[in-house]
Amino acid sequence: MGHVFLFAKGKAEGDRTMVEILGSKGANLAEMTNLGVPVPPGFTISSRLCLSYLNGGGLPTELDGELRQAMVALEHATGRVFGGTPHPLLVSVRSGAAVSMPGMMDTILNLGLNDETVEALALESANRRFALDSYRRFIQMYANVVFGLRATGNGKRDPFAHAMESLKSARGVERDVDLGEDDLAELVQTFKAIVEREHGAPFPDDPWQQITGAIEAVFRSWTSRRAIDYRRVHRIRDDLGTAVNIVSMVYGNMGEDSGTGVAFTRDPATGERRVFGEFLINAQGEDVVAGTRTPLPLDEMTDRLPSAYQEFLRICTLLEEHYRDMQDVEFTVERGRLYVLQTRRGKRTAASAVRVAVEMVREGLIDENTALQRVDPDQLNQLLHPTVDPDQELDVLTSGLPASPGAAVGRVVFHANRAEELARDGERVILVRHETSPDDFHGMVAAQAIVTSRGGMTSHAAVVARGMGKCCVVGARQLDVDEDAGRFRVGDTVVHEGDWITVDGSSGRVIRGKVGLVALDPGEDFTILMAWADRRRRLRVRANADTPADAARAREFGAEGIGLCRTEHMFFEGHRIDAMREMILAETEEGRRRALDKLLPMQRDDFLGIFRVMDGLPVTIRLLDPPLHEFLPRGADELASLAHEMGVDADRLRHTVDALTEANPMLGHRGCRLGITFPEITEMQARAIFEAACDASADGVEVHVEIMVPLVAVHDELDRQAAVVRAMAREVFRERGLEVEYLVGTMIEVPRAALTAGRIAETAEFFSFGTNDLTQTTFGLSRDDSGRFLPHYVETGLLSDDPFQTLDQDGVGQLVELAVRSGRATNPALKIGICGEHGGDPRSVAFCHRAGLNYVSCSPFRVPIARLAAAQAAISHPL
Ligand code: ADP
Ligand code: MG
Ligand code: MG
Repeated sequence: MGHVFLFAKGKAEGDRTMVEILGSKGANLAEMTNLGVPVPPGFTISSRLCLSYLNGGGLPTELDGELRQAMVALEHATGRVFGGTPHPLLVSVRSGAAVSMPGMMDTILNLGLNDETVEALALESANRRFALDSYRRFIQMYANVVFGLRATGNGKRDPFAHAMESLKSARGVERDVDLGEDDLAELVQTFKAIVEREHGAPFPDDPWQQITGAIEAVFRSWTSRRAIDYRRVHRIRDDLGTAVNIVSMVYGNMGEDSGTGVAFTRDPATGERRVFGEFLINAQGEDVVAGTRTPLPLDEMTDRLPSAYQEFLRICTLLEEHYRDMQDVEFTVERGRLYVLQTRRGKRTAASAVRVAVEMVREGLIDENTALQRVDPDQLNQLLHPTVDPDQELDVLTSGLPASPGAAVGRVVFHANRAEELARDGERVILVRHETSPDDFHGMVAAQAIVTSRGGMTSHAAVVARGMGKCCVVGARQLDVDEDAGRFRVGDTVVHEGDWITVDGSSGRVIRGKVGLVALDPGEDFTILMAWADRRRRLRVRANADTPADAARAREFGAEGIGLCRTEHMFFEGHRIDAMREMILAETEEGRRRALDKLLPMQRDDFLGIFRVMDGLPVTIRLLDPPLHEFLPRGADELASLAHEMGVDADRLRHTVDALTEANPMLGHRGCRLGITFPEITEMQARAIFEAACDASADGVEVHVEIMVPLVAVHDELDRQAAVVRAMAREVFRERGLEVEYLVGTMIEVPRAALTAGRIAETAEFFSFGTNDLTQTTFGLSRDDSGRFLPHYVETGLLSDDPFQTLDQDGVGQLVELAVRSGRATNPALKIGICGEHGGDPRSVAFCHRAGLNYVSCSPFRVPIARLAAAQAAISHPL
């Protein structure tokens, strides 16, 4: 196969399946040509040449012949001659990779102009102003992209834009289009002089020299800094290379009957079925996007360019029917005649994506499976949270990482207790801190949103906020927070406690003052789409929820159970922490039991509330997990007051506290290790669970409780804890004279558990992969400390993803697969799920589907995302 693919006169050598070679722009130009769409004739140079050129191989010798042959074909198709007179052929040179990618070389228009051809163009068009305008644009663009003469980040101005501005002010005009013929002639000379001065060589007159320079520049732009960065962020392969499109010019700048524009075949914001776009009269190429002139709404083309408009509407329908998707179309009108220069899949908001997908099924354009695959699950976030009113003016203070989406308005507070106090009085508050710790939990519950100046996407604040579906911005480094003084500073602005701010967790913005929020109703189309998803997925979707309120929200979002109820969160509320501390610091079993007795009724009430809400659905309750020191008093004041309450000596209490401090709590006395050393804790929790279950059941609630033992590494740990739980079940059932169904299972969250899963499954009735800890322990890295190096790993491509956000399939995933296989070998009925942060990540959900899990569990707001992701996985991997 040759290197050059022609499209001309309604026939193309390529088509849309050849994206890898022609790039998406080239493949679609070919496809449209074959469809009979009026595309100006042109040809595409294969992207295969890009990498060999970049590797120092130059351009293949046979290319020159192919190019000349293709150019002759264009000359035939257009009746013009490249570099010739009286009808010069001019072309554009456009980059285009398989994946559409900003950051590649900018398009060069009007290539082929020189001092002779420009005069021919002037004569032929009877419009010298137009010819000179095209010429000066060409020199500017060419020098810009091929010679790198442009504005730089370090303050150097674009010399051409500068010359243009000087001339305009000398002539006293404001707009480019107000410059006259002579002005433009002068500008051309100035531009050439700039090239000669700054590039050190005259501007090339020979069109063939121009075109080879441009082709090589397109290839080189593949390795430009911005292109490389873009690929990294969007996980695009580096070895694709870009194709080069050479397209004969059509002119939107020929006068009032000409123009250029961009349109979507449906509304990209709402999905409404109507062609939506903008155009400019007497303009060329990028003028629309560049924002130098304000474009007109597309409808106004009816008056200005009526027949081209009708033709355009017809083509939009044709393209949609052909591609069966919303298209983003670029066009130019030359003296009333329409030309289409590009079509691609239109980018759209979540609302638009859902509506377009559902309506296209109704219109018979696509089937339900296709519709489901058209919507990006992560994008659904936009639909499920309130957002900042887009029509309002904003005083943006700073931006941090968008840790948890949604938006919220409230008064600034700096301490969790204060947040709780004010919230109790009915105030809306936003908790602003350097970072948060479990101590701040009650304040986070009370706040509308959380902002931290430190921390990353997996920091405590981020994880907890996402879990609660609460808006959160983390790592807003420019915030200089002074918690004690009760204020933060950004630049010269100081914001005090009690001042209003607005937080946009979807974009990361922190905004001064109260901004209006708009709640988005996900709408009927969303419900329809989700119903299609539910019919296809094989994975069940549960939610992580610790309170009846969370559980209720989870059900609303379609959760089919609770996959993780963290009992420790219940201990942080109000005065419970005191009883908890008493329990931890008790020196005798008796003292501990006394404290546990205080906790029992509180836990029982929590469980009862959750069982009621989840009537008929499974609820997985995890026994106490975190290391005890997380509950301990911090400063001297807290210690003294606790000692007072407990009636013990403060010094002695400090001793006990110190003794509980661990060098590495993550790997310390936590999880089932607590229940092993203090079985009375497990007994209390089991009693609370079963008493609540019996009470609920007596009320007619259908209870399916699953008791989960955390951090098991040795099968005996589970055996012993399970024995304690079962003994308590018997005791409570005897007392109440009634039995409820329950399961005892374990989390698989350390490698040893995964490796010995076959043996653990002899006792366990279910497994739940705690992939947060499993990731920490498999990598041997602490999530709380990973912020110092993990972002660097991801930025430099050492890791393709943050393993705490997307499950590491090659490593952690192997442990999961192994445990599934050996667990099911022991007990084929073993129920298996996942309850880490990964349960709401679409790519991880797809992995869980392939690994044969029964369910994923994620935060309530991510339930619809997981439902859609599970359906997509089932469609692409039918088991
Ligand atoms: P991008 O990849 O940034 O969209 P394009 O290659 O599509 O860049 O070029 C940008 C714009 O330049 C097009 O939308 C079109 O308006 C204009 N353009 C490109 N080629 C031609 C041409 N042959 N004739 C007229 N205008 C063109
Ligand atoms: Mg384009
Ligand atoms: Mg864990």
